[in-house]
Amino acid sequence: MIEVKGKNISVIGAARSGLGAAKLIKKLGGIPFVSDSGSEAKLLVVKTILDKENIKYEMNGHSEKVYDCSLMVVSPGVPSDAEVLKHAAQREITFVSEVELAYHYCKGKILAITGTNGKTTTTSLCGHVFNTCGATTHIAGNIGMAFSEIVLDVKENEFVALEVSSFQLDLIDKFKPNAALILNITPDHLDRYDNSIQKYAESKQKIYRNQKENDFLILNYDNKTTMEHLKEHKSNSFYFSLNIEQENGCFLSTDDVIFKINNDEKFRCKRTDVNIRGEHNLANAMAVISTAKVFNLNNDGIVNALQTFESVEHRLELVREIDGVKFINDSKATNVDSVWYALKSFEEPLFLILGGQDKGNNYEQIKERVTDKVKKIYAIGSSAEKIFNYFHSLVKVEIKETIDEAVNSAIKEARSGEVVLLSPACASFDMFDNYEHRGKLFKQAVNKL
Ligand code: ADP
Repeated sequence: MIEVKGKNISVIGAARSGLGAAKLIKKLGGIPFVSDSGSEAKLLVVKTILDKENIKYEMNGHSEKVYDCSLMVVSPGVPSDAEVLKHAAQREITFVSEVELAYHYCKGKILAITGTNGKTTTTSLCGHVFNTCGATTHIAGNIGMAFSEIVLDVKENEFVALEVSSFQLDLIDKFKPNAALILNITPDHLDRYDNSIQKYAESKQKIYRNQKENDFLILNYDNKTTMEHLKEHKSNSFYFSLNIEQENGCFLSTDDVIFKINNDEKFRCKRTDVNIRGEHNLANAMAVISTAKVFNLNNDGIVNALQTFESVEHRLELVREIDGVKFINDSKATNVDSVWYALKSFEEPLFLILGGQDKGNNYEQIKERVTDKVKKIYAIGSSAEKIFNYFHSLVKVEIKETIDEAVNSAIKEARSGEVVLLSPACASFDMFDNYEHRGKLFKQAVNKL
């Protein structure tokens, strides 16, 4: 147990998880001190909250006071090679992530969900399925509330569907979820892992490091990197696969989704019962079905929940249909892999809005699919030229200054039965505050038409 009462605890980073951690420490009788390297001007809202909570803080950098503590809680945005962590290590101060801290105070069962893509969708679907089946489940982590923010509300017989990033997993110690899900591991964020997929995969695999015999591990059988880097573990493994039948896990058999334990069928539904579009979402749903079944939730409830779940905002979200042209907002597609799945999710001819802040993208993976399905690319943002150079010999590409311009051209060019898809494969920070902002402006442009 992490002792908090009466202790000085420094919290590095004043974003959502840092604030959650500081509030939890205070509630538990500890003395939090929040330190952020960002400017006060940028952190105005945060300051108001901290003042209201009567929590001490500093901004514009870390002073000596930050080391006057028995523990540091580090926010996921802080790079692992940050000076403040080096100094803390030299002074033998233990540092952990916010998820680790909250874990020590969680009475309920934890369903921890990680992966390169699909975490938010799956966490939210998991919450919906469990709650529909009558198993009270809190949704937390990168999605919605920080774990620390809700942990004291969780009762013994309740669940937490917890979205965890690899940055949170990097700094765990005892964190032991009752069910750990790895959705997939594909290249992304490699800059934080010395450009090594091995290191990134190892970070994700920490999710089950502390699991015991009565815990569950749910893995994507189809994802090569997840399977190749699989470490020894004590937990019960279940697999989900779109391609291969499983004795323990979930798989597709023609048009049915089946879940088995020791080859004994425990669940079956129609593929079309899964309301969210695309094969990747079918895989996400299979991960959730597996989780629901290892906790023995009732089949009717699961099917009902799958049928009623709507896609999460900014993830293949249908904005509007105008004269038979569908406008889809997939602003959260910030890497090439998620665009690959987005393209696979449509039979219709596509007008694709692509581009933004490049993360060293290699478009080879989507080249064939773009050639087959995309009628035209509208390239936006600082990577527009790179996109033009890569794709213009394969499909029509036009560079657009703004998202509005792209939408206005698309409505003129697309015909009934075609789809205009914002799935940028890039970060948004060159033109927007974040991907939500990008998605909102896209939706605004579409709603103005
Ligand atoms: P995360 O929280 O991991 O970023 P999201 O659920 O927010 O995941 O989805 C991010 C993007 O990835 C969206 O464009 C979504 O359509 C796509 N996506 C969702 N699930 C998967 C998956 N299993 N594999 C690949 N892409 C996915």
